[in-house]
Amino acid sequence: MYKRNYRNTEDAISILGFGCMRLPKINPDRPEIDEVAAQALFDYAFEHGINYFDTAFNYHQRLSEPFVGKALKKYPRDQFYLASKMPGFLVKEEKDVDEIFEKQLENCQVDYFDFYLCHAISDESFKVYDDCNIMEHLLKRRADGQIRHLGFSFHGSPEKLEELVERYDWDFVQLQLNYVDWNVQNAKRQYEILDAHGLPCIVMEPLRGGTLAVLCDEAAAVLRESEPDKSLASWGLRYAATLPNVLTVLSGMSAMDQVADNICTMENFEPLSESEMALVNKAGDIFTKTKTIPCTGCRYCMDCPSGVEIPGLFKLYNEYMLGEDKNDFVNGYKALGPEKQESQCTACDQCTEHCPQSIDVPEALKKVTALAEKLL
Ligand code: SF4
Ligand code: SF4
Repeated sequence: MYKRNYRNTEDAISILGFGCMRLPKINPDRPEIDEVAAQALFDYAFEHGINYFDTAFNYHQRLSEPFVGKALKKYPRDQFYLASKMPGFLVKEEKDVDEIFEKQLENCQVDYFDFYLCHAISDESFKVYDDCNIMEHLLKRRADGQIRHLGFSFHGSPEKLEELVERYDWDFVQLQLNYVDWNVQNAKRQYEILDAHGLPCIVMEPLRGGTLAVLCDEAAAVLRESEPDKSLASWGLRYAATLPNVLTVLSGMSAMDQVADNICTMENFEPLSESEMALVNKAGDIFTKTKTIPCTGCRYCMDCPSGVEIPGLFKLYNEYMLGEDKNDFVNGYKALGPEKQESQCTACDQCTEHCPQSIDVPEALKKVTALAEKLL
């Protein structure tokens, strides 16, 4: 597996990292992990050189960390890099910080994290870090060796990013970066800020929650004509890894065919050539112009107080808009039932405030209504 060294250290990180937020599940509607299937993915990944595993306190409704701890226990601690995250959004008072951190060490069955992040920082969400002295606790953990590298995952504006990177002595930052968000979500500007500050960039959502592994017919044709044997996902991973300040590209893998395909792409990684880069940008432009709702399925907007299944509705909408079957939309929409459909929305805007993609959720739900009225 192709690796990059963290700054000038001997920490050699696989260019493909294993994101542990979409592990195989026993029941698609429940958070419980299919541990046999997930362990098989981890074992295959580890045997093929993936050595970076990224989990978080709240992934799989708090079941990801305990699984990751169990699954990696069989491997020597110095042969993998483990990342987890402080859920600032769950911190109500200062004492919560140490309680959560200790619980995370216990969950993961480790006595240190290689990479530790303040989770999902946006323009507003850093306030709790000040109010509850979270950074003081995390900096002490780093000084004590329980955090080797301290960073944050970011979903805000370039201005806020600039402010934060200058405020603390960070070791890295995790950005949502892919060939659609490079322009649409200011990823280019954010990457440049990290580069200027000498901060390594870890990439999340290189395939935008899987949508760039599907694209739309017209955009997909641009890439398939050039390389019929390569998956659409491979273009997205190579795009992110072509940026020289990227340390690793995370992929939230949930099936063996994804793991195998991603490893095939990254084990002998080749940066995109100029002509390949032009093709990817062309496909991205076509895709962006299609009428999808840019939801990544992260579920930060949930739970809706009125019961609306926001990401599920957007997924149904996007799949239909990407050329999926009418029946899939109709069946999926009916399966949600009236209590989870967008008709329950009171436009309270609670969800919009939490959406890292800045989706105006009530407005976007109107598109779902229009589609449902057309198809039902
Ligand atoms: S705006 Fe609508 S969908 Fe969003 S939280 Fe409020 S009721 Fe739920
Ligand atoms: S609407 Fe926004 S917060 Fe909710 S799942 Fe989609 S991207 Fe995430």
